[in-house]
Amino acid sequence: MKISEIFYSIQGEGRLAGVPSLFIRTAGCPVNCPWCDTDYAKSFDAGEEMSVAQILRRADARDGSNVVITGGEPLIQEDLADLCYGLRAISPHITLETSGILPAGDLAVDLMSISPKLSNAQNDEEKNFEHFYPEIISGLIEEYSSQIKFVVSDLQDVLEAGRAVKEISAVGRADLMLMPMASTFEEYQLKAPEVAQYCLGFGYTFCPRLQLVLFGGGKGA
Ligand code: SF4
Repeated sequence: MKISEIFYSIQGEGRLAGVPSLFIRTAGCPVNCPWCDTDYAKSFDAGEEMSVAQILRRADARDGSNVVITGGEPLIQEDLADLCYGLRAISPHITLETSGILPAGDLAVDLMSISPKLSNAQNDEEKNFEHFYPEIISGLIEEYSSQIKFVVSDLQDVLEAGRAVKEISAVGRADLMLMPMASTFEEYQLKAPEVAQYCLGFGYTFCPRLQLVLFGGGKGA
């Protein structure tokens, strides 16, 4: 598997925000969000090759911890099912973070954390390229306990998220969250109050980015 980093930190986002967790960050992502907060992990040249056994040996040092498998896009990794199966023996809770562009198959995962890509995920080179696949996201929600985090910057994004929600047939079974678009503490401070107001107005749950508040973001945070 291509691994960017393995580290122990506080889960900053979603329904488990605040829980100490072991993070396994895979490298490589076919989406190319201009606001990606893990730029160093999205290239297919990033990270180092590690076997499942090597990763599990590292994870074993945090036996009993929650695990978060994130990226990059973890679902492109061939040995993901074996990794989840191995982690099951040492972790009470496994979260998988995905952009929802690929089906997951049968994984030993407790929470599917889906961050669907709105048009704000398109970069200048691929203006009309779609990264939003409602049928795939519905399939994930039907198979796994799920949360959906929309990364939003303004009202237009929130309205687009609302239209996207209507296309995800199984959406009623997932937690729906809005997360401020920010990759630094300063950006988060500016954007979070505005997004909180959108949550109040539209009934979404506010998704924090505690890693920016506590550690300023970046590698190992
Ligand atoms: S999907 Fe996630 S990892 Fe991939 S480019 Fe976008 S924010 Fe970065």
